[in-house]
Amino acid sequence: MTSGSSSVGTAFITQDLALPPSGRELEAEIRHLKRKLNAVILAHFYQDSEIQEVADFIGDSLQLAQQAARTAADVIVFAGVHFMAETAKILNPARRVLLPDLNAGCSLAESCPPHLFRPFREHYADHLVISYINCSAEIKAMSDVICTSSNADRIIAQVPREQPILFGPDRNLGNYLIRKTGRPMRLWQGFCIVHETFSEQKLLRLKLRHPSAQILAHPECEERVLRHADYIGSTTGLLNYVRESPGREFIIATEPGIIYQMKKACPEKTFIPAPPENSCACNQCPHMRLNTLEKLWLCMKNGAPEISMDEDLRLRALRPLQRMLDLSA
Ligand code: SF4
Repeated sequence: MTSGSSSVGTAFITQDLALPPSGRELEAEIRHLKRKLNAVILAHFYQDSEIQEVADFIGDSLQLAQQAARTAADVIVFAGVHFMAETAKILNPARRVLLPDLNAGCSLAESCPPHLFRPFREHYADHLVISYINCSAEIKAMSDVICTSSNADRIIAQVPREQPILFGPDRNLGNYLIRKTGRPMRLWQGFCIVHETFSEQKLLRLKLRHPSAQILAHPECEERVLRHADYIGSTTGLLNYVRESPGREFIIATEPGIIYQMKKACPEKTFIPAPPENSCACNQCPHMRLNTLEKLWLCMKNGAPEISMDEDLRLRALRPLQRMLDLSA
């Protein structure tokens, strides 16, 4: 379950007990409901391919926030995790925001509980707080500006050099940005369970078997993985890189959902997911995978679960988010 900043908007949810249609019929039903509700479906790159197929827009956190900010739809169906749907609600108080599974949380957002972050932030009161978008609305409300992995270095570059910075919640992204920008920053020690799962040893063995493959990594990965990467970037950055690279083979160190779009863009190239430490599917985000096509259909049919939020909290979270959008325009 995610942080308690927002909740199911309806006190009583009428669950539809009828069996959902399947296959093409299910997709057709979703498209029909989309028209009926004047809804837009936004999906993150880490969602299953079948969800990406019915989405109106697929993107990374920054693109989805930008898209949510400019939509004219009455209903936003967010195929992603809780903090993303919450972000859409912060930007769109008048629109209904639905999340197919309210339990689709985020280990990184949960590694930064507001009751612990508040005293940390107060202890460094002279610091400017830059928070990665993967955090709850309460953490956003305690921040000066939000960033994503696409724009973090550009935002840091706009902070005067004498201004100390506190960065949270992701320690790996924070350490990567310190190395990249040369700016010292005080870090919150949060992390994503998916991006800390990759095994350096297995990655090197895989590289020995595929010597011409380039290693592409998301900056939420640990330094021991990032130091072997040929390219480090956001999910959109990784996607653009494979499109433009003359390379034919790539090892991908992030959630493997992105590989669906990579294969679509470059069917002639080969993409190999970076191996996790254990023989498990831990490189798949368990939170993202809670959303299914059936739950997407059900949430549109029932109008729930819906994200709702206290207006005072929303306004405090909006300021740093809007600052990010203005700085990224
Ligand atoms: S991959 Fe990590 S950071 Fe992204 S939603 Fe899942 S748990 Fe959160």
